[in-house]
Amino acid sequence: MIKIENYINGQLVSPLSENYLDNYNPSTGKIYGQIPNSDENDVEKAYQAAENAFPLWSKSSTEYRSKILQRIADLIFENLEEFALAESKDNGKPLSLATAVDIPRASSNFSFFAKAITQFSSESHENSAINTINFTLRQPLGVVGCISPWNLPLYLFTWKIAPALASGNCVVAKPSEVTPYTAYLLSKICIEAGLPKGVLNIVHGLGASCGNAIVSHPNIKAISFTGGTKTGQHIARTAAPMFKKLSLELGGKNPNIIFSDCNYDKMLQVSLKSSFANQGQICLCGSRIFVEASIYDKFKADFVEKVSGMKVGNPLEKNTDLGALVSKEHLEKVDEYVQKAIQEGGQLLYGGKPVQVNDFEEGYYYQPTIIEVDSNQCTLNQEEVFGPVVSLMKFSSEEEVIALANDTKYGLSASVWTSNIDRSMRMSQQLKTGIVWVNTWLNRDLRTPFGGTKSSGVGREGGLEALRFFTEPKNVCIQYSIE
Ligand code: NDP
Repeated sequence: MIKIENYINGQLVSPLSENYLDNYNPSTGKIYGQIPNSDENDVEKAYQAAENAFPLWSKSSTEYRSKILQRIADLIFENLEEFALAESKDNGKPLSLATAVDIPRASSNFSFFAKAITQFSSESHENSAINTINFTLRQPLGVVGCISPWNLPLYLFTWKIAPALASGNCVVAKPSEVTPYTAYLLSKICIEAGLPKGVLNIVHGLGASCGNAIVSHPNIKAISFTGGTKTGQHIARTAAPMFKKLSLELGGKNPNIIFSDCNYDKMLQVSLKSSFANQGQICLCGSRIFVEASIYDKFKADFVEKVSGMKVGNPLEKNTDLGALVSKEHLEKVDEYVQKAIQEGGQLLYGGKPVQVNDFEEGYYYQPTIIEVDSNQCTLNQEEVFGPVVSLMKFSSEEEVIALANDTKYGLSASVWTSNIDRSMRMSQQLKTGIVWVNTWLNRDLRTPFGGTKSSGVGREGGLEALRFFTEPKNVCIQYSIE
């Protein structure tokens, strides 16, 4: 049994209540560890540690902070195998994916912001007519809260923590209670890297108690949250009366738009990934596939054939395409959405059932599932399933597909497949999403702004946007005299 502990004031400590929760391995359905069931008292202790650490950390040089963050990045990379195995065990994702994507990206998050902070600058405005110079001081906020979900556990956790620390804040952070393991390993790495005590505090526990205590803490100045739209609304309601700075990265129902003039083979290969990578549990997955009528039948046949060849199974095996879903509850939710889609008239083209994997009979496996729909108003096209389920629908014109793509409450990302550059520009301008990928998917450059519109969130993270979020701009105006 693995016993995870909180990381507060530079030490690994038990929750004050001594209460622990069970942690499940989704690939076996068995309990394999325990995690602290922290409450507001643990959050308060973490906050105090962070508050005490803030004066020194915020005044330390950018070079010093950069060096420590780079050391953390290096140590994550040096321990890639251990981290990847932990992520796969905790989340159910293929080990190959954790090794190739999740953990290298967590390391890159630290090394990117270690460098970015040394390049971060602010504006100045001179007005020689009245002898003034205005410049913008960018100061750290103080103690900030970072709360992340279970789908890309360390990847998203570090995406918030790294810029917060780089810009001089101290942090109280909570990973998802469902996937705490790599955050715990990160605590140990921070100790090894010599991160001063209290600068980062990681508190494990349930969203409703531990997460809520972070959001409602009166002296935690900002919340960077990634998770579901409903939780985001709750957080916004709690934080708004205190005028906290908020960055909310929420759900998506992203269109994957395929025109007949695209590079067909590349599109087909990438569409498999954008539909089913990480068992479809990525906020950026293209879960609504719109295909131009002239190639619809061909795409449908080819896509079903390719998907039927995908292997669902033990995440530790090299040739596994889809591992387990994150929890039993989530598997049941995904299956309910599939059954509802069929009841509403959707045609099941492939999948639609849980999978029994030999020797892992109690694991939470589900077939990659394709459902053909004829209306964008069906539940499947309007609500986020966050699982290995995509819908297929045909369209006849650019105007029609833009209207369909924009017709949801979400606005996170979109993919467009076309070789017509004019069309790609027209589409990019009209799609109401925070990100548009043309002839690619999940092609992430960490310098770019990341976030969604409408119910997909508020604010942008990534690159300098994240450093701006975690700092307060202050206008300083100096009038000088010229003798
Ligand atoms: P949740 O919203 O359920 O949880 C996210 C985090 O918030 C978890 O750490 C959770 O803790 C915590 N939490 C839950 N309730 C509260 C609360 N009242 N106050 C404070 N914290 C709380 O999301 P999931 O973990 O289920 O993640 C899936 C969702 O995340 C999907 O909707 C997906 O689209 C979205 N997502 C968005 C991304 C983006 O960048 N836009 C990227 C990745 C995912 P606990 O788990 O312990 O309940």
